[in-house]
Parts: sequence; structure tokens; C-alpha cells
Amino acid sequence: MHSQHFTTEPSANDTTGRDLTVGDVPALGSQTSGADRAPLMVDVIIAGCGPTGAMLAAELRLHDVRVLVLEKETEPKSFVRIVGLHVRSLELMAMRGLLERLLPHGRRRPAGGFFAAIAKPAPKDLDSAYAYLLGIPQPVVERLLEEHAVELGAQVRRGRAVTGLEQDDEGVTVELADGERLRARYLVGCDGGRSTVRKLLGVGFPGEPSRTETLMGEMEADAPQEEIAAKVAELREIHPFWLRPFGGGVYSVVVPAGGVGDRAQPPTLEDFRQQLRAVAGTDFGVHSPRWLSRFGDATRLAERYRVGRVLLAGDAAHIHPPIGGQGLNLGVQDAFNLGWKLAAQIRGWAPDTLLDTYQAERRPVAEDVLDNTRAQTELLSAEPGAQAVRRLLTELMDFDEVNRHLIEKITAIGVRYDFGEGPDLLGRRLRDIDVKQGRLYDLLHRGRGLLLDRTARLTAGGWSDRVDHLADPTAALDVPCVLLRPDGHVAWVGDDQQDLDAHLARWFGTPLLKASPAPK
Ligand SMILES: Cc1cc2nc3c(=O)[nH]c(=O)nc-3n(C[C@H](O)[C@H](O)[C@H](O)COP(=O)(O)OP(=O)(O)OC[C@H]3O[C@@H](n4cnc5c(N)ncnc54)[C@H](O)[C@@H]3O)c2cc1C
Repeated sequence: MHSQHFTTEPSANDTTGRDLTVGDVPALGSQTSGADRAPLMVDVIIAGCGPTGAMLAAELRLHDVRVLVLEKETEPKSFVRIVGLHVRSLELMAMRGLLERLLPHGRRRPAGGFFAAIAKPAPKDLDSAYAYLLGIPQPVVERLLEEHAVELGAQVRRGRAVTGLEQDDEGVTVELADGERLRARYLVGCDGGRSTVRKLLGVGFPGEPSRTETLMGEMEADAPQEEIAAKVAELREIHPFWLRPFGGGVYSVVVPAGGVGDRAQPPTLEDFRQQLRAVAGTDFGVHSPRWLSRFGDATRLAERYRVGRVLLAGDAAHIHPPIGGQGLNLGVQDAFNLGWKLAAQIRGWAPDTLLDTYQAERRPVAEDVLDNTRAQTELLSAEPGAQAVRRLLTELMDFDEVNRHLIEKITAIGVRYDFGEGPDLLGRRLRDIDVKQGRLYDLLHRGRGLLLDRTARLTAGGWSDRVDHLADPTAALDVPCVLLRPDGHVAWVGDDQQDLDAHLARWFGTPLLKASPAPK
């Protein structure tokens, strides 16, 4: 069941199995076809219902793609890890109307101070309407994204581990741990850093193994809060170390694992006490742990993001140390990039190369994140040379451009995809701006393209089933018109209809409808 058989792409208009509904997906083993190959039951199977898988399922459902998410665990994750949603992810959430759901569960914090924990405030005029970080428990993000996907019609099955796959020219057959076999046109491995899908594909995952480990847990501490806060402030820049109060004497504790315990075994409370004493000179009287864990700083990137009809996204495609808080953000942004492209492929209007732009655009972004986490790791070393470089960088960050560059990297608002020659805006995401109907991002909730036209004389008529047109001379833009992809990136800038048509065809395929006249 682990072999790879794939030949060509399906015809663009292939709608095999489209008459089946997503609900109550039957077991593949119970079906056969004339060609001894079971019919396709859904369009896309997603392995893994973490943040990446849930986001991707929702994005696909926006385009009416039939999605089944298979999740190994029977219950959602129980341990509460606070993650930071950075500016670009907050923008994505706003683009799909999800930000309002997330905000009540998190705490807004300033956007700056995340590069190697160097305490510099973000430039005041950071280019976003959402220029803050949202600290929020990861299980809450996962729950809300899963709920959103299910509301849109995705089916999630828990306690279903993917163990095998086989692909051919029509689809992918997926085998589950209990032997059940399911079939879809595409499979996406969103199954985390130890991805079974990636291993089954035989895709290499080169990089560096873990060199240092860190203990993380939640527990009570008897020491006074002021004493704990003072020690954390003193040591935070030298060690990956903190005790963050949750209220009621409960703390989230992070401390270097330093060689304690047996790596194969989960850490113990005594490991935490021992390491706190080694780093801070006291164990702060910690007791009554809620949960204890350990994580490493391995850094790896998948050699390919696509093999035929199987794709990889999120931690399945890249892992790196959590410093700077970028992993979940990166995965959700992968899903946002992939969703509309895979949907276009399935709906039959994708230009030939569209699906491959997923790897072409997202792998370099992951490469850059891996590099910035490598750099941050060095800057956190207690070695004298590294400390000297850190002091120098801290001075350099007083220059606005340096500080801005690093913050735009961590928050991902500096990402510019390579769409070829053109103005600086081309390939970048467009910030949320005022338009005549309200806010630009509110117009992107349905995941369609958008022509934002200040000349009010252009048309996207032939593509009106995929692209909306907003003729708005009042839009706060300093260019005449932009064409936005469903992920909010600028696919074209200009004012010429012929040029626009060529770019519409490049990203949205051949026009299906007869062009309607430009709006009056
Ligand atoms: C201490 C720590 C702090 C972090 N802080 C941040 C932060 O502040 N900001 C940030 O952006 N990121 C942070 N991260 C990283 C973030 O947690 C991960 O990048 C994120 O969880 C990746 O999401 P994912 O959906 O790609 O993978 P995962 O969250 O790993 O989800 C994968 C899912 O697939 C399931 N699965 C696995 N195998 C199978 C299979 N064979 N079949 C079916 N299902 C399967 C798993 O059960 C899981 O539910 C942190 C990580 C750590 C360790």
C-alpha cells in the first residue's frame, strides 16, 4: 500500500464522483468499479486536524470542494500552549470574518520584541490595520478553525490515523490504521512534523537534528509573583526561560532541559525543579503540575511540497524551533495559499501551472523562517561571541529600517512572492483599507479574487464567477487598480484592460462567461 503510481493530471473538467455527498462517506473497501478501482468519494482528504488542516478544509469548502479531514487523535489536544498569532495571520482571519471570534479568547500584545526576544517596540506606522500580536491558547485556535470548517460543510473524522497511500492517474487511495480504505482526488498531509504522509511519499526532510531541548509545562508556584517576575526579567534574554502567570498561582513554565531525564520518557516535576534551580538558583516552590512536555530545536524542510496528487502543508513540510512564534502562523498561511489553488484545480478552471505555484511561493517563505530561527537561536546563546553579536544587533535595531525589516519578517507582512517584473506592490499582500462599502477585507470573506478599480472603467466580466469587481474611485490606493488573488496578494497593478485580461487568465484561467460591459 506504500507504492507510488501516478501519471498525468486529470482533465480539468473531471467531475468523477461529484454526485456523492460529503456526509456519511462510505468505506472504500465496500465499493468496486469496473476498472477494479473504487470511485472517488470526496475531492480532498486532509490528514491531520491541527491548525493547518482545519484552515485548509475551510478554504476548500469556500469553493464547494468536498473535504474529509482524518485526525489520528480521538479528542482535541488538551494541553494549553499559548501561541502568538502574528499580524499576517490576524489579517487572514479578518479576510475570512474569523478575527472577531478569536479576539475574545486572546490578549493583544505589542507586535514588537519577538526577534530573539530583543525588547524593541515595533515602528509606530507598521503597515497593517492589525498591528499587534494576539496571544491565544493553541487549542482555542484549533477549535475555532475546526468549527469554521465544519460550519462550511467539511467533515472531520477523529480517531482515524492515515497509515498508507497509493496514487494513480485519477486519485489517491488512503489506508487507515484499521484497514479501512478511502479514496479522493487529492490528499494533503497536514499531519505535523512527524508526518506519515511525507514519509509514505518518500520525500526527504533534510536539516539539523535537535541540539538542545526545552521543558515546558503548567504548574503552581509558591514564591511571590514579584520575585518570580524580577528573576524572569533578569534572565529572559540569556536563557529560553520564563514563568508566565495564568492567575490563581498557576504558571506556564519554560526552562532549558539541559541533559535532565531520559529523552524517551516524558519529563517529571523533579526535572523542572532541578532545571529551575540550575538556571535561576531557586525552583520557586513549583508543585501540582497540570501537564509537562519537552520540545527540541530540530530544523528541517521538505524537499518537495507536492508529489503528483499528494501535497504537504504546515509542520509536515517544515519544522523549526518555536522562537519568534512562527510555526502555526506559517502553517495557516500555507493553507491559505494552497486552498484556492487546489479548489481551482478541482473546479476545473486552474491554469496548468497554478497548483505548482504553491511550492514555488511557500517553500522559499519557509526557508526564510528556518533561517531566521537559526539566527535567533544563535543570538540566544550564552557564549560571549553570540552575546556580542546580540548587543550589536540590539544597537542596530535602533535604526527604524532594521527594526522594521525584522518585524516584517517575523509577522510575515514582508512576504513578497515572485510574480516577475513589476512595481513593488506586485506579489505583496495588500493591507486592509477603507473602500466605499466599508473595509476591503470584508469583501474577501468568500475567498474569491477581487479587482479593485479606481478608474471605474475596467472589467473582470469574463471571470465574474471567480473574481469580484469593485469600481471605487475613493479607495485609499496609490495605484489606479489592483487585482487581488483570493489570498489577498496583489496579482496585477495597472490600468490597461488588455494587460488585466492577460493577468486574469494567468491566475484565474480561461474566461467561462461572456464579458459584460464595464460598470457605469
Ligand atoms: C513550545 C512551543 C511553542 C510554540 N509557539 C508557537 C507560537 O507562538 N506561534 C506559532 O505560530 N507557532 C508556535 N509553535 C508551533 C506550532 O505549535 C506548530 O507549528 C503548529 O501546531 C503546526 O500546526 P500543524 O497543523 O501543521 O501541525 P500539528 O499542530 O502538529 O497538527 C497535526 C495534526 O495531525 C494529526 N496527525 C498526525 N499524524 C496523523 C496521521 N497519520 N493521520 C491523521 N492525523 C494525524 C495530529 O494528531 C495533529 O492533530 C510552538 C510550538 C512549540 C513546541
